[in-house]
Order: sequence, then structure tokens, then C-alpha cells
Amino acid sequence: MTKPSTKLPPAWHFEQGPIRPPSEAHSLLLRVSRNCPWNRCTFCPVYKGSTFSLRSVEDVCRDVDAVAQHLDLLRRKLDEVDCDTQGVLQFLHDRLPPAQQAPFRAAAHWLTGGLQSVFLQDADGLVIGPAKLTAILAHLQATFPWQFRITAYTRSPTVLRFADEELTALRRAGLRRLHIGLESGCDAVLEKVHKGATRAMHIQAGQRVRQAGIELSEYVMPGLGGRALSERHARDSATALNAIRPDFIRLRTLAIPEGIPLYEEWRRGEFEPCSSVEIARELLLFLQTLDGITGELASDHVLNLFEDLTGTLPDDQPRLVAMVQSFLDLPAKRRCLYLVGRRGGLLRGLQDLNDPAREAAAQDLCRQLGATVDNVEDICRSLMQRFI
Ligand code: SF4
Repeated sequence: MTKPSTKLPPAWHFEQGPIRPPSEAHSLLLRVSRNCPWNRCTFCPVYKGSTFSLRSVEDVCRDVDAVAQHLDLLRRKLDEVDCDTQGVLQFLHDRLPPAQQAPFRAAAHWLTGGLQSVFLQDADGLVIGPAKLTAILAHLQATFPWQFRITAYTRSPTVLRFADEELTALRRAGLRRLHIGLESGCDAVLEKVHKGATRAMHIQAGQRVRQAGIELSEYVMPGLGGRALSERHARDSATALNAIRPDFIRLRTLAIPEGIPLYEEWRRGEFEPCSSVEIARELLLFLQTLDGITGELASDHVLNLFEDLTGTLPDDQPRLVAMVQSFLDLPAKRRCLYLVGRRGGLLRGLQDLNDPAREAAAQDLCRQLGATVDNVEDICRSLMQRFI
């Protein structure tokens, strides 16, 4: 006779991770694993010092059930009373036991955001494997019987562990979009930053996601090659994307906060960051090299040099190229004004310099910080730290 186990099953509690893409701001965040299974990229501060672990399918499904229960309660209460939604939400939240407040907040956030999408966290939603993921997707679809988008971050090496049929099955089970950090299409850059994927792996993984009918969002990191590899980084990233043809290209400019391996390399003189003008030149070459892509370019991050560098490819390509070129053509003092205004959070793009109030605010900030053409890069670096 087998001895009964004395081990108690780990207690379930509702969990959500720290990170989601900006485009998933209104999504229900469903944590299928904790932290990053790779965690070695030298530029990435997000999960350093945290240990990766999988969550069980049962626990993830309990999270789904907890959200569903609160969603039911919320809908009933909001139908019953005729007063402001936020007031009702706060009133209900404050009367719940602490353990129920997190799933309540998740349900309320999802409800007020329109119940349109679910994002599987953390850094790699596919790492849980096809069988477990399919079970979670099935439970989601059965619990919430309306049309919604399911998306996740993943890594190219993880995608390559899935057979084509498994990717197609995930799409059929409801997985609509994958977000992949390409970062660079240049092997020298990928190797230097310990991305754990080569250009060929990125291309193959991206193409297979697209062939499975899953939408693909690829993230590119301007500046990641530093001065030494800037040109190759721009050209190779664009040509890799030309081969993949993703639905979305998203820009995330490199920032170097203290505590990440790349910061130490910089301090030791082993990495020389690009200046803002060099980043703009890199962007220009990148945009000029993109070819045959029919998707969206998004610059939806505060660290980017131009937050309005967005458009539909290929139609908007000439406009986007002209936008970056016009920054490079600015007189040095005007460029300095833009950079301080942008890094100070006052300007989103060059057009904002035509707004007298915004321009005056940028001038003020330049005066306060003592910004000049010579020190503007140092000032911008310290301003950017606020957004990391
Ligand atoms: S794979 Fe993504 S989350 Fe993980 S260390 Fe690299 S950039 Fe960070």
C-alpha cells in the first residue's frame, strides 16, 4: 500500500506579473509562468534577480474562475445601481477580504477596458508547452463565451520547439497574437547582448508564427549595437524583418539603467552608446532598408526619440523617413531643444515644436538644466532614467 503523501499542495493565490506590452493596457493579465526562463539579455532589467517558475494549469484556471466570479458580481451590481462606475467599484473592492481584492481588481480593470483581450504573462507565454497552453486556452474560451483576443510574449527559441501543427492548433484554440523581442537582426549584436537567439532563428520562428496564422509583433531596439555596430544593427534588423514580414514592428530604444550587465560593460569602456543623432541615423537607415512589409510601425514607448514615428508600411515609409531626416537637418541648437523637450516628457514628436506653449516649456527646461549643444547627451541620459 502506498503511503499517503504528507506534502500539502501549494496554496493557490491569484497572481499577476509586472509586465505587459503597451498595446495590452486594457487586457486581462493572466500569469501562466513567473519571470523569464532565459533572463540573460545584458540590456534587460526586468526580471534580473528573479527566479523563473511555471504555474500549474489548475492554478491558472483558478485565476480565470476567480475573475469570472467577480465579473458576474460586478455586472449584476452595476446593473442594479445607477451611479458612477468607479464609485461602485471602489465601494465593492473595499468590502472584500484582502485575498479577493486582486482578482476583483483584475475583473474590474478588464470590464472597464471592454473585455476585448487577454494577455498571458510573464516573459514567455509559450514556455509552458503546447498541451498545458491548449488546456488554458480552452478553459478561457469556455469561461468567457464571447470573442476576445489572446496574446503573449514569447522567444524565438521557444517558438522553434513547437511543431507547425502545434502552432496552428494554438491559433485554433484562440491564440491570436505573439509578441517577440527580435531586438536585432544582426548576429554580432545578438551574440554580444546574450539574446540566446540568432538571426536565422528569429527569421525561422517569425515565419512559422505567420504561417500558423498567428499575428506577429516584433520588437526592435535602436541603439543596441552601440556605436561600433550601429550600421550593421540597422541594416540587418531591417533585412531580417523583410524576411519575416511581421504584422507589427515596435521600437524600444535602448536605455542603460544601473544594475544591468550592459551598464557594467559601459562603465568598463566595453560598450559605447550611440548619441541621439547616431540613433536617428540608425533609424533612418533602418526605415530606408525595410522592404516589402505590409504592417504597422509603432513607436509606442516613452524612451523612443520620436513617439509619433508610427504608420502603415509601405505607404507611410516616405513620410517616416522624411520625419527622421528633418530631425537630422535641424540646426544643432534646435535639435538640442527638441531632445531636452522630448526626454523631459514635454514633446512627443517634432511637430510639437510648432506649438508655442510646448516650445516655451522646452525652452524653460533647457534653461533650468543649463542644456547646451555640448552637454545635451548627458542631460538626456539622466532625464531618461526617470522613465526606465
Ligand atoms: S528574454 Fe526578454 S524578458 Fe528575458 S531577459 Fe531577454 S529581454 Fe528580458
